[in-house]
Amino acid sequence: MAARDRGEFPASLKLVLASSNPGKRREYIELAWERDIEIDFLPNFHGLPAFDESLSTFAENAAGKALHYSRLTNEAVLADDSGLVVAVLGGAPGVHSARYAGPKANDQDRYNKLLREMDGREGQDRRARFVCVTTVAREGRVLAVTSDSAEGLLLKEPRGTGGFGYDPIFFLPEAGCTFAEATREQKNRLSHRGKAFRKSLALLADPRSVELV
Ligand code: IMP
Repeated sequence: MAARDRGEFPASLKLVLASSNPGKRREYIELAWERDIEIDFLPNFHGLPAFDESLSTFAENAAGKALHYSRLTNEAVLADDSGLVVAVLGGAPGVHSARYAGPKANDQDRYNKLLREMDGREGQDRRARFVCVTTVAREGRVLAVTSDSAEGLLLKEPRGTGGFGYDPIFFLPEAGCTFAEATREQKNRLSHRGKAFRKSLALLADPRSVELV
C-alpha cells in the first residue's frame, strides 16, 4: 500500500524542490520515490528572482529559501541548506561549503582545498559532520523545519566515484566507506539529507511528531 494511502503523508501534498544542484536533485528524487511522494522541480528556477543564501546559519538559509520560493508558486516548496562542518577548522567550510574555493571552482577544487587545510591534522582532529536543514513552506508559511547530520572522518585522499561534493573524502564509519563509495541506497539511508527529509515527511504527516525535529 502506498504511504499516502496509509495516512503517512497528506494525500494532497506535492513538493517542488527549490535547488539547481544536480547531486541534491538526484538524491531528493530517490528519497521521494522511496516514500512514494510526488516531487517535482520548481519550473523556470533560474528565471525566478534568486534567494541570497549568505546568511550565517543553515537554518536561516533553508527557511529563507523555502519561504522565498513559496511566495512564487502555489505548491509546497522543499528547500535545504547543507554543508560540511569541520570542528578543527572552526566549523568551516560550513555554510560556505558550496563556495569554499571561489565562485568558479568545482567539487574537486573544493575538496582539494579542504584537504590542504587539513594537512598535518591526524586522528580525531579529522572529524567532520555533514549537516542538512530541510524546510517545507507553502505560500509564505513554514510547514516543517527539520535537521540532521552524519558524523565521519576526512580521509587524506579521495575514494570512490559516486555522490557529489565532498563525498569522496568523507568516510562514514558506520558504512565502512566514503559516501562516494557507498551505494545510493546506503547514502540515502545514512546521510544528513536522507534523515532530515524523512523527519520532514513524518512532521508533515503528523504535526504532533515534533519530538522528531
Ligand atoms: P547548498 O546547500 O546549495 O548551499 O550547497 C551545499 C554544499 O555543501 C554543496 O554544494 C556541497 O559542496 C556540500 N554538500 C552538501 N551536502 C552534501 C553531500 O551530501 N555530499 C557532499 N557534499 C555535500
